[in-house]
Amino acid sequence: MKRALTHLHSLWKIAHPDSKRLQFVYLIGLALIPFTILYTPFREWLDYGWWFLLWVYLVQQAAIKFDTLFYHRLFAHQLFTVKPWFERIVVLLSPLLLQSYPAGYAWLHLRHHKYADQDGDPHPPFSEHRRRWNNLLFPFMTEAGPVEYKLILPLMKRPLQAWIMKNYWYMTAFYIVLIGLISYKFLFIWLMGTQLATFGGGILNTYAHRNNKMAIDDMHLANPQTHTAVNVKNTWTILFGGNGENYHYIHHTYPRRWNLHPEADKGKSCINGRVIKLLVKLGIAEVKSPT
Ligand SMILES: [Zn+2]
Ligand SMILES: [Zn+2]
Repeated sequence: MKRALTHLHSLWKIAHPDSKRLQFVYLIGLALIPFTILYTPFREWLDYGWWFLLWVYLVQQAAIKFDTLFYHRLFAHQLFTVKPWFERIVVLLSPLLLQSYPAGYAWLHLRHHKYADQDGDPHPPFSEHRRRWNNLLFPFMTEAGPVEYKLILPLMKRPLQAWIMKNYWYMTAFYIVLIGLISYKFLFIWLMGTQLATFGGGILNTYAHRNNKMAIDDMHLANPQTHTAVNVKNTWTILFGGNGENYHYIHHTYPRRWNLHPEADKGKSCINGRVIKLLVKLGIAEVKSPT
């Protein structure tokens, strides 16, 4: 424990100022959930009832969808393209996710792919210093690893990416004021829901990965449908949003596939694959990569 805390402290010292801010927002958002449930005056001030938790959950699910579909599949991996007007809207809405600008996410995530479960992985599930709770409570305090800015060079040529990086916190402030003007209650719902979505991502990164790659390969071959690293369809991940990316190991094995269903060649689609198909049908998206 002591070693893990010392390590965490060393990560804080090297963390980017944006990561520190996001880490702060994350802990506040998560802590507010039990605080709201347990502290009566605050609960009453928010008119808390079953509807409140339902809204937190709905925001969480919407944030997970936005995150997995756009941050992950569109911006980080560019598994599909969208019309420029649509991309601009997505980028302008991205601060609503309260989880960094697309380039920040893509930089982290592409390093995760390049060094998955090895030295250099920004969030290994378990390492000499790191424990699973690091990923769950401190998702923005990631391992240093190689810098690798070149991984996001193609993304930085996309519409508005450099602009949103520069103006991210101004846009965040704009949305805070806007939502606050609509309803102060919704401001808290938004904060809790979005941070619960980041928590879902932490669960995916932690529990969809095991360090023993050889064992995963064996199990993957023997039983690709049910192994947790291949298909993390369990109560935890469905509840917290892993349902969009539930074939995580297939994604690592075939990172160019936009449809992660193990039987994509037989016409089956994963959940996000179905949404991409719908966007193609609507004439908003195009897919070039193999299914
Ligand atoms: Zn990925
Ligand atoms: Zn992964």
